[in-house]
Amino acid sequence: MLDASIRHPRWASVPDAQWSDWRWQQRNRVSTLAELEQFVALDPRERDGVGARGFPFAITPYYASLMDCTRAGSSCPIRRQAIPVADEGLPSLGDMEDPLGEDDHRPVEIISHRYPDRALLYVSHNCPVYCRHCTRARKVGDVASAPGRGALDEAYAYLRRTPAIRDVLISGGDPLSLSDRRLVEICQALRAIPSVEVLRLCTRNPVTLPQRITAELLEPLRELHPIWVSTHFNHPRECTAEAGRALERLADAGFAIGNQTVLLRDLNDDAETITALNRWLVRHRCRPYYLFQCDPVRGSGHLRTPIETGLRIIDELRGRLSGLAIPQFVVDLPGGGGKVALTPDRVISREGRRWRFRNAHGREYEYVDPDDAPAATPRRAASLPLVM
Ligand SMILES: *Cc1c(COP(=O)(O)O)cnc(C)c1O
Ligand code: SF4
Repeated sequence: MLDASIRHPRWASVPDAQWSDWRWQQRNRVSTLAELEQFVALDPRERDGVGARGFPFAITPYYASLMDCTRAGSSCPIRRQAIPVADEGLPSLGDMEDPLGEDDHRPVEIISHRYPDRALLYVSHNCPVYCRHCTRARKVGDVASAPGRGALDEAYAYLRRTPAIRDVLISGGDPLSLSDRRLVEICQALRAIPSVEVLRLCTRNPVTLPQRITAELLEPLRELHPIWVSTHFNHPRECTAEAGRALERLADAGFAIGNQTVLLRDLNDDAETITALNRWLVRHRCRPYYLFQCDPVRGSGHLRTPIETGLRIIDELRGRLSGLAIPQFVVDLPGGGGKVALTPDRVISREGRRWRFRNAHGREYEYVDPDDAPAATPRRAASLPLVM
C-alpha cells in the first residue's frame, strides 16, 4: 500500500493546492515520449510502444507517481496499464476493433442498448489515464469527437420513449472528465425521466484521479440518488490512502459503489493479488462486482489471460474469502452476445433427488432434494413476469 503523499520528485515543487486540484492534474498529464523519458527509465519496448497503434497515452501526475520509474524493463502494474509497449502493434488471435459490437447496437448515436432494462450512455471520450486494455480504444482519446448537446437531447428522447430502460450507465470515456456543471446537468436530465430508476456513474477517477471526487461535485449529485458508482481498480498498488478517501467520500455521500476489475496477464492474474485488492475495496465500502475477462480488443493480446485463469482464481477465492469480496467472473461475448458469468463447477453428479458436490477444499458432500419436489422442475418462466 502506498502513501497518499507519494509524489514523484518531478512534481516536488508543485504547491499542495495545485496537486490536489483535479483540473491541474488533468492539465498536466504526461502525454509525450519526451516528457516520459525525463523521469522514467524506459526500455526499448516502451519507447517503440508510443505510436504503435492510434491510441494515445496520457497519465496524471498522481497516477504516474505510483509507477516504479527507476528500472528499465520494470513489470510495475501501473506502468503496464499506462505506458504503451510495442506489442500493441502486433495482431493476436481473436482481435477485434469493436469487440462488444457496441457500434452495431446503437438506436441513437450515444446509446448502446443491448439488455431490455439497461442502457449505456457515452458522454465523453476523455479519461485521466488511457488504460492500455481499454475496450473502447477505437474512440477513447479522440476528445474532439465527444458528444454534443444535440446527441444528448436525442438520447434523452430515446430513453423517454423506451420506458423499459430503468438503469442508465453513464459512461464514455470517463463521465467525470466533464465539468461539474455538465455532469450534474446530465444526471438531472436523466432523473427527470420517470422510467429511469437507477443511474450508474462508470468512472475510473477514484483510481487515476481521486482528487476529482470533491464535495462540490457530490453535493448536487446526492439530491439525485439512487446513483451507483462503478469503478475500476485492478491492482493493490492503486489502493492508496488518497483513493481510499475518494471511496469514503462517495460512500458517505450515499453512493453505492461497485468495482469492476479486468484480468490482465502477469499483472493481477493470481488469487493473492485479487484477494488483497478486494479486501481493501470491501474495507472502503466498495463491493467487488465483476472480474472481467479482458475483451479481445486489437492491441491487447499481450495483456490477455486464458479464460481458465479467471475460473481458477474464483475457485481459489470461494471458501477462503468473505463472499462480499468475491466478484462474478464475467466474459462479455465478442460480437455483442452480452455478458455471461462463469462459475467453477461444483456439481459432480446428480441422480434423481441426490446431488453430489465437491466443496472448495475438494471434499465431497450430498444434498437430497425434498420428497415432494418433482424430480426435474419444469421451467415456469412463461407464467412469471420478466421484471418486477
Ligand atoms: C455491461 C453492460 C451493461 C450493464 O450490465 P450489468 O450486468 O447490469 O452490469 C449495460 N449495457 C451494456 C451495453 C453493457 O455492456
Ligand atoms: S478509464 Fe475506462 S474508458 Fe477510460 S481508458 Fe480506461 S478503461 Fe477506457
